[in-house]
Amino acid sequence: MTLKDKTAIITGSNSGIGLGIAHELARAGADIVLNSFTDSDEDHKLAEAMAKEHGVTVRYIKADMSKGAECRALIETAGRCDILVNNAGIQHVAPIEDFPVEKWDAIIAINLSSAFHTTAAALPMMRKAAWGRVINIASAHGLTASPYKSAYIAAKHGIVGFSKTTALETAQEHITCNAICPGYVLTPLVEAQIPDTMKKYNMGREEVIKKVMLDRQPSKEFATVQQLGGTAVFLCSDAAAQITGTTISVDGGWTAL
Ligand code: NAD
Repeated sequence: MTLKDKTAIITGSNSGIGLGIAHELARAGADIVLNSFTDSDEDHKLAEAMAKEHGVTVRYIKADMSKGAECRALIETAGRCDILVNNAGIQHVAPIEDFPVEKWDAIIAINLSSAFHTTAAALPMMRKAAWGRVINIASAHGLTASPYKSAYIAAKHGIVGFSKTTALETAQEHITCNAICPGYVLTPLVEAQIPDTMKKYNMGREEVIKKVMLDRQPSKEFATVQQLGGTAVFLCSDAAAQITGTTISVDGGWTAL
């Protein structure tokens, strides 16, 4: 299976799951557009190193996924989009009545509305090519809930629904749209939650990982960014051509409980 001659745009891909997915799509031969809201030397070095490692073209395009116009400009600037991975995401934890309004707005904008804007800009390109793959990174929290993550859970449930609608609007055009629902993956987003959780439960780091995080995952292991990348490559393959409008959980059994 090769993704040679395909261009993949992955939002929020200068770290964590997005970067892992970009690596696996590049390994499968796709040209890559990396993205985040920063524009540092490290961002551009990341692109150079990835191009060298996999022998594909890798560009880094800055765009802030909290702003609709920049989401659309990312796709237009790339000029081509065969594979769109809506991955950018942030998190905030607080009870509903204390949840800062600006955090709610930012989470809904980055984790949900950005996918609407990028998809709207990318679909005409996919229709022209008569082939396309839209992969939305949802979460186990797109299928289940837990307290204090109201905005994140609303956004992730929203993106699962948006994925189904996208699938239905493109079903006869060789374009598929699915949502990947990861459980816990040890990325900077999850690392950032550990100190507060340690304080909240008066636990050490390893105890938080074992008793709070992995307790929810029957496998008792984190999924890796490479495994998420492999799932994305599968969804781009011919074997997955009839898989559309669904969710794929990569959560060690969390949502089977
Ligand atoms: P991460 O913090 O490593 O990555 C988030 C990415 O989003 C970064 O590249 C960051 O630069 C980018 N980003 C943040 N704000 C942005 C903005 N305004 N514009 C553009 N880019 C922006 O975290 P991650 O864990 O790799 O998360 C990636 C996705 O996976 C998110 O959608 C997250 O909700 C989802 N997810 C993660 C886990 C997990 O356990 N790590 C589980 C389920 C779902």
